[in-house]
Amino acid sequence: DRVARIRAWRGPGRTADGVSMQLLANVQDGAGAVAAAGGQAEGIGLFRTELLFLNTQVEPSVDSQAGSYAPVFAAFPSQKVVVRTLDAGSDKPVPFATLSEEFNPALGVRGIRTTGQNPDLLVHQLDAVAQAAALQPGTDVWVMAPMISTIPEARWFAGLVRERGLRVGIMIEVPAAAILIDQFLAEVDFVSIGTNDLTQYTMAADRMSPHLAEYTDPWQPAVLSLIARTAEGGMEAGKPVGVCGEAAADPLLACVLTGMGITSLSMAASAIPAVGAQLARVTIEQCRAAAAAVVGAEDAGDARNRARSAFETAP
Ligand code: PEP
Ligand code: MG
Repeated sequence: DRVARIRAWRGPGRTADGVSMQLLANVQDGAGAVAAAGGQAEGIGLFRTELLFLNTQVEPSVDSQAGSYAPVFAAFPSQKVVVRTLDAGSDKPVPFATLSEEFNPALGVRGIRTTGQNPDLLVHQLDAVAQAAALQPGTDVWVMAPMISTIPEARWFAGLVRERGLRVGIMIEVPAAAILIDQFLAEVDFVSIGTNDLTQYTMAADRMSPHLAEYTDPWQPAVLSLIARTAEGGMEAGKPVGVCGEAAADPLLACVLTGMGITSLSMAASAIPAVGAQLARVTIEQCRAAAAAVVGAEDAGDARNRARSAFETAP
């Protein structure tokens, strides 16, 4: 049965017919990375770096930042680790970096926008990432920025990361970035879709609100359409397109994302076996049929039903 299949599943991620799908973990510290490495994670797809910044009134030193990144890299000595630069603001307030008075913090100075007031914060963080990466030369360190919404922002960030010899990407979590995906991909080496925020901003529905679950559902057809568009852009450009929001942990949706051409899925490490076991039961053709079937759905429930029946009926 299902539980036994999940327990017995071993990575790496792949479909029944052997098409690979990198299954990565979301972590926020060294302990999480060690736990993920002890499980089935093939690397880290989202290293959230806010933790060190949350309970301090001053910027942590470059050395202390590097000291907090090094154990995460050490846990994956020959694999990929995608570091996300500080996503301060809104649901992740950082005392010294966030404006305290904004009417709409989710639409305010958050993520990469924080660097408009204080670019050194980012420069120091990138120095710390480069310092920690140098200690672990086998680790494939990728760096991405949250909340990118304009091309000049992406270009500026890419320049800073490349100066330090690291591979650079951006998160796709603002609809503007998905809409102009081809132009954004021309600036960077990879992108990773943050479905939590992409859904929030596409549906204009607060991800923190308990009253808006119907809207904050990544199966919403408009969200699926932006994800598909982003995946297509990646395939055309020959660049990786990951998904690192909660959507990646939904086994059925993970199969649809595979069919769209997404190249990696990053989730809580504990969710990887369920996603891996589901992928192992379907072919890439079935995944593609499901991705095609959700186009034209009228709401999230309809999209789910269409995907389910595609897997039941496709050869
Ligand atoms: C997202 O927005 O989907 C995401 C992965 O980032 P966070 O949840 O940390 O905002
Ligand atoms: Mg986000």
